Amino acid sequence: MRLGVLRETAPYERRVALVPQTVQRLRAASHELLMERSAGETAGFPDAAYLEAGATLADRAAVLRDAEILLTVQVPEPEDLAGVPPGVVVVGLAQRSGVNRFLAAATAGHLTVLAMERVPRTTKAQSMDVLSSQATVAGYQAVLLGASHLARLLPMLTTAAGTMPPGRAFVLGAGVAGLQAIATARRLGAIVSGFDVRPVVKEQVQSLGATFVEAESVGAAGEGTGGYARELGEEQQRKVLEAIAKQLPGQDLVICTAQIPGKAAPRLLTAAMVESMRAGSVIVDLPVESGGNCELSRPGETVVAHGVTILGPLNLPSQIPQHASLMYSRNLQALLGYLIQDGRLDIDRDDPIAGPMILVHGGDTAGVSSVTSGR
Ligand code: NAD
Repeated sequence: MRLGVLRETAPYERRVALVPQTVQRLRAASHELLMERSAGETAGFPDAAYLEAGATLADRAAVLRDAEILLTVQVPEPEDLAGVPPGVVVVGLAQRSGVNRFLAAATAGHLTVLAMERVPRTTKAQSMDVLSSQATVAGYQAVLLGASHLARLLPMLTTAAGTMPPGRAFVLGAGVAGLQAIATARRLGAIVSGFDVRPVVKEQVQSLGATFVEAESVGAAGEGTGGYARELGEEQQRKVLEAIAKQLPGQDLVICTAQIPGKAAPRLLTAAMVESMRAGSVIVDLPVESGGNCELSRPGETVVAHGVTILGPLNLPSQIPQHASLMYSRNLQALLGYLIQDGRLDIDRDDPIAGPMILVHGGDTAGVSSVTSGR
């Protein structure tokens, strides 16, 4: 099939949908690859590497006109779809702002749109799971970003100028991003603790060498369906805040990763709790775009309150564009390998993987009338 890759246009986006290594593999599987010129540049993959891997370089209009499947990190602008013939399949993350205008244009143009963030979190689809691959990068980068804003060192250092005690890191939410943040903070030499409302993660947190902080009597109430958390009642939320508040005064770095699918991020750090932290400490709030875990964080901004630096970074995976793209690219390759049989792509609404990913199906809205950006 003829696969097209567009240069990303969303703000802060440095990733590319396919890296040269994957292009080579897809070429070996008899697909044609049309790359928009400079598509990989911001991720550190020059056009020459794509040519060597067997891709054809083209301008944007030609990719939009000639590809049968358009592969993107974030779905393109609605205006781009004017040049796309009916029947084309667009694959990408549909979480960007303005996505509903994009979906309306895709519906009018009789296209099919598959949302990568909707890949089911099942064993069979694990290799296609971009939420996991990108959360891994985000969790790692959150710690590096936080550490670089700290007024102190994280590892214990014994030097001629004296001994510096190790720093303390506290990770809120021990899903994919949180566990990676715990592992990264441990590698940097911090004393790490982790908190989650799902008791099943206790062992995973401990196996990474961190202490698990438990909230009194929350128990299984935090465990929702599909391995996700669920929203807590008022009394349980009070216990959670109490447990977190107790830990905060001694911490240097707090990494917030707690999320509940389809809901605003749970509020875990109030302004008063921030005030209890010592000056020079840092909070990194990953779910800032879905409301944030910290009351004081602002999307894309650095806020300093009571001497505490609160970072609300946007699109962290994009800050490590080479490896984030490599992982995303492998997720796409796995998806294409699953969906394309005998050189044909048939998207069946009843398919256990493709079905839940469909936002538009041949111009039909597939029962999805609007999508909110963020999860
Ligand atoms: P997520 O991004 O939705 O949430 C991050 C974490 O925040 C979760 O661990 C959640 O329990 C936690 N959280 C929610 N509310 C909280 C609160 N009030 N206080 C503290 N923590 C809170 O989750 P995720 O990282 O995308 O994945 C979560 C789980 O999904 C995984 O641990 C796993 O069980 C499952 N999963 C399965 C697969 C698979 O089978 N292929 C892949 C990825 C994830």
